[in-house]
Amino acid sequence: MNQSADPYFALIAPACVMLFGLTLAGCWWVQRRQPGARFLLWLAAGYVIPAVALAAQSLMSNAELASAALFTGCLYLAGCWAQAQGMALRLGARGVSMAAGLLVAAVTLGALYYYSRVQEDLWVRVQCLTVGTALQQLLVLGTMLKAQPAHDWLERWVRWTYGVNVGYALLRPFAVWLLPVQGVQELTRSGYWLLTLAVALLIGMWFALGLLACSVRDVLASLREERNRDPLTRLLNRRAFLESSAALLADQRLAPWMLVAMDIDHFKQINDRWGHRVGDHVLQELALLLPRQVRDRDLVARYGGEEFVLLLSRVQLPEAKSVVERIRESMHDHDFPLLPAGVKVTASFGIAPLAAATQLDAALELADALLYAAKRDGRDCVRTPERLEEPRNAPALNGI
Ligand code: GH3
Ligand code: MG
Ligand code: MG
Repeated sequence: MNQSADPYFALIAPACVMLFGLTLAGCWWVQRRQPGARFLLWLAAGYVIPAVALAAQSLMSNAELASAALFTGCLYLAGCWAQAQGMALRLGARGVSMAAGLLVAAVTLGALYYYSRVQEDLWVRVQCLTVGTALQQLLVLGTMLKAQPAHDWLERWVRWTYGVNVGYALLRPFAVWLLPVQGVQELTRSGYWLLTLAVALLIGMWFALGLLACSVRDVLASLREERNRDPLTRLLNRRAFLESSAALLADQRLAPWMLVAMDIDHFKQINDRWGHRVGDHVLQELALLLPRQVRDRDLVARYGGEEFVLLLSRVQLPEAKSVVERIRESMHDHDFPLLPAGVKVTASFGIAPLAAATQLDAALELADALLYAAKRDGRDCVRTPERLEEPRNAPALNGI
């Protein structure tokens, strides 16, 4: 190898680490508006900061390594703490202990000071720093042990690689003890240095690739979510309802189904009287109330302005009717914080049975027709195909 080209080759490793960091920072930028995306920034810092130290060290002689030991040590320790912090945030925790991180950093930097200024010993310094950085990364261990089990293989990949990374860092000092070479060569040109760098780089690359794959998966999931959810209520929109109901109706174990069409009574008056913002608030409150009254696998969608559609699985008509009556009553009991006390919001309902996906359009039409029968009959009531109820004359929007 050409001697003058040597330092540039030594920069390949830090350049790769820096690139991983910048890629993770790019992922954070794309997802920065998503709640909880901040962990990507910490993980990016966990690559970028050590990359600076690695680049500086790769160009230094042993003597320069000693004089810069505290500075590069600080960068490695901060980078590893940032990685642990990123992992903790990613697992839904509030972060890792700053005090523990500072304590580990203080003890490690104290040892680095001693073995660089008082009693120069490069190998002991390498070992102290390796143990210090591994301890920083270990700060997330408690959170990892308490975390929910990984829900897919990508998540398992990321967690295991992080564990291997820390395990490798903890084993490195033992590998050093076993090595016969003791500072005869320049450390950063030694076989040991290059070997440990190559392995660390490989593990780091594996970890970063897992994170990037998770990040792409999260972006796709949030795009799918945006496409499927109504922005005001976060309920399924019409398109997503039709897609999800096709999937549900294909599973005959969930038969029979009941389709419920629901329309808020005199909603226009709420807008006219208290403003559009209050109208929006009523829709949002109902979007919280409706899913609480049905089972997890049932679908609840905002089908249009103030119209909702529900698809209930494994129910007969009487049971569906009691679910809808429960919804109607829960609306009566609900206090809408932005509406004056005593003002009740009501809705009218139509229920249509269906036994297969091919009947969905017909069921939607029937439920809609029954809903309008309920409107004609005085609102705030439920209509089913078998039994039409007595007309009611009660005002739908009590208090208006
Ligand atoms: P009915 O009892 O016959 O259903 O009367 P209604 O007033 O509820 O029905 P109408 O169709 O006359 O009015 C529906 C209103 O819903 C009109 C529209 O401005 C309002 N609306 C639709 N979407 C939204 C929305 O996203 N936010 C708000 N605030 N209002 C909406
Ligand atoms: Mg309507
Ligand atoms: Mg209405």
